[in-house]
Amino acid sequence: MSGGAGRRLGPKVVRKITTWLIYTGPGGRAMPALVQDREAVSMAIAIYPGSFDPVTRGHLDIIKRAAKINDHLIVAVLINSAKHPLFTIEERVALLQECCRDIPNVTVESFDGLTVDFARRRHATVMVRGLRAVTDFENEIQLAQTNHALMPGIETVFLATSIKWSYLSSTVVKEAARYGSDISKFVTPNVEKAVRAKFAALPLENGKSPCG
Ligand code: ADP
Repeated sequence: MSGGAGRRLGPKVVRKITTWLIYTGPGGRAMPALVQDREAVSMAIAIYPGSFDPVTRGHLDIIKRAAKINDHLIVAVLINSAKHPLFTIEERVALLQECCRDIPNVTVESFDGLTVDFARRRHATVMVRGLRAVTDFENEIQLAQTNHALMPGIETVFLATSIKWSYLSSTVVKEAARYGSDISKFVTPNVEKAVRAKFAALPLENGKSPCG
């Protein structure tokens, strides 16, 4: 998606355009000519904010789809999103980076403070959010309206979850892992390994891990 999403456009990039022109040559014959030109176009930069504690296959589905419709997608990991995250910010970022390494227009960063301030610093004009169920809607619409009031140049784009991930959240993954269930359906192998290692290393409180 190149071009004007919102009033504040992202950084300009120079795109080389190749066009074939047909002109009339000797004897009235149609002659092709290759014309090369350069045009400055605006990049649509999107951010996908969340806690990603840890990243699930539901998040990855949204990331892949959002990357297809934006020039660049920044997965923005909120530093203080939960009081007791299972994974540190560095671990959450590293797991996401591994999961996204084959998607060339996706980068992963951490941020603190207001999401709109981070979006402004990165010249993002689109904020991507995933919608799982009606229960997500109320919070998400309020968040989108608040963000738009704080930064009119940003538009929130909601992507409906694929039906097979509609029940999935990071909390579901942690709950399942805490009781020893198989989480390979919910997360990629690197995340599964990291979750298992985390729970194995945590002290148990009344048979339950303190994190969640
Ligand atoms: P959670 O802890 O609920 O998994 P995050 O804060 O990490 O959530 O989520 C970031 C964004 O990803 C939110 O917009 C959330 O609605 C979306 N999201 C989370 N899980 C899914 C899923 N299974 N399918 C689609 N979107 C999702």
